[in-house]
Parts: sequence; structure tokens; C-alpha cells
Amino acid sequence: MTFLNADLHCHSIVSDGTLPPEDLAARAAGNGVELWSLTDHDEIGGQQRALEAARAQGLRYLTGTEISVTFAGQTVHIVGLGFDHRDPALVRGLQATRGGRGERAQEMSAQLEKVGIRGAYEGALKYVGNPELISRTHFARFLVESGVCRDTSEVFRRYLTDGKPGFVPHRWASLRDAVAWITGAGGMAVIAHPARYNFSANEEYALFSEFKAHGGTGVEVVTGSHTAAEAVRYADTAREFGLAASRGSDFHSPDESHTDLGQLPYLPGGLTPVWELLADRVL
Ligand code: AMP
Ligand code: MN
Ligand code: MN
Ligand code: MN
Repeated sequence: MTFLNADLHCHSIVSDGTLPPEDLAARAAGNGVELWSLTDHDEIGGQQRALEAARAQGLRYLTGTEISVTFAGQTVHIVGLGFDHRDPALVRGLQATRGGRGERAQEMSAQLEKVGIRGAYEGALKYVGNPELISRTHFARFLVESGVCRDTSEVFRRYLTDGKPGFVPHRWASLRDAVAWITGAGGMAVIAHPARYNFSANEEYALFSEFKAHGGTGVEVVTGSHTAAEAVRYADTAREFGLAASRGSDFHSPDESHTDLGQLPYLPGGLTPVWELLADRVL
């Protein structure tokens, strides 16, 4: 089933998306998605709603999340799919991962204040659906709304990335723990959007080989932020490391995301789709 319209990566208001899970399910169904997963950052509080909405729309569903991990000094995202969303160790691990976000946000706001941007914390909070999940995306929305930047990508370029005035480094989960929480709950771990990291060839090799050694299963080959060339490149990487392949839009918002739910190329041939390995976890 390589040619399945599976969309196994998107965000709701439970993390940094703008739509509720019910609207995402309707949008996915309308766009022809056949297998869907809601993968909110470090949070599975929306899973029950997403599952019920998927059922109402006649969509097959895999539970999902996207865990923030620190690896070789950078933030890497690990998507988890097909786990039991009531698993206590997974619930606790994600809760701990969310823990530092409030203080980090206050610190970001203090730094932005120093470059003349006032009230960023309160401004970002207006966009937050889940107070435990205040993220850079919410700050970006505030800076666009208040006219400081034209769009969110300009905000990230000028303020919210490493070395810029609103960036606060943060220590997230370890790769080993994130993979263990997911697999311990009966799910499979997938490296999200691999082309978006700034690793050297050696660091990237270490990421893939350690991920595999910890029990990771797959890699996103087709995602909203990959070019066709990047998809080909990570299809090769999947084969080299014996990893399955996943596909997901990473949709956040109708106003911000250039790739809509389900509107992306199929997986290249010659790969094992991760949903084949997760067939008995589909709800
Ligand atoms: P955080 O988890 O608070 O560090 O925020 C990370 C989120 O910021 C990601 O999940 C993306 O939604 C968003 N993001 C990161 N980099 C960019 C970028 N260059 N342009 C737009 N959004 C970005
Ligand atoms: Mn996000
Ligand atoms: Mn991500
Ligand atoms: Mn994402």
C-alpha cells in the first residue's frame, strides 16, 4: 500500500496548530486522506477527540504525537504512532517534557523586551489553546499580529532561532527516552522532517544509527517541508538504515501552512510504509 493517502503528521490547538481536532478530521476527510494521525507536540491530550472525530468522518486513525528531543545540541522531533495513549510511562514522560515551557516562554519574552518588543508573553498566550504547550509558534503569531514581522517565517529568521534575540536554548527529552516511551506504549517511532536539521554528515549518521539502536522504526520521507530531492535523499537513507518510511503534511494552520492535509506526493516506491507495520494498531 505505497499509494495510500496517509497523513501521519499535523497539529491542533492542543499544541501549536490553530484548528480543533474535529475541524482537522473534517478537513483531512475532505482532502481525501485515508489514514490520519494527529501528532501534537509533546502532548496526547487531543487523542481521544481526534479518534472520535476520525470515526465520525469515516477515517482510519493512528494515535500520534511529536516529541521534542535534544540530540548533539540541536532539537530533533520524533513522531510516535500507534501507541496506547493511556500508557502511564508515556503520559508521564510527555508531561515532564512539557514542563519547562512556561519558564522558557517568560525568558523569551524578557529577551524580546530588551530589543523593544513589549508584552510578548501575554501576547503569545492569547494564541495558546493549552497553557502547558506555549511554543515559539505562538510568539510568532503575536509578532505578526502586532506588525513586527510580515509572516511567521520572518519571525523565526529574525527573532526565534539560535543566535537571535528571542531564542532561549532548551533541553528536551533524550532520544533514548522518547523512543522508549513510544515503543513501551506499543507504538513506533519515526524521525520527523530529517532535512530540517543542521547536522554535519557525521552527526546525522549518529542520529540515524542511535535511533535505530534504541528501537526506532521509521523516517519521514515525504513531508510538507521536504523538496522532491530531499524525499529522494531520505528514501535512500531509509533503505541504508533499514527504516520504514512515513508521510505527513505537518499541517498547522490554513493561514500559515503551505502544505494542506493529504496534499503531498505519495511515498517513492521500494520502501516499507510505516503503516504496513502498524496495520494492527489502526483504529
Ligand atoms: P518550540 O517547540 O516552542 O521550540 O516551537 C517549535 C515550532 O516552531 C515547530 O514545531 C514549528 O511549528 C515552528 N517553527 C520552527 N521553525 C520554524 C520556521 N522557520 N518557520 C515557521 N515555523 C517554525
Ligand atoms: Mn509546530
Ligand atoms: Mn517538527
Ligand atoms: Mn510537526
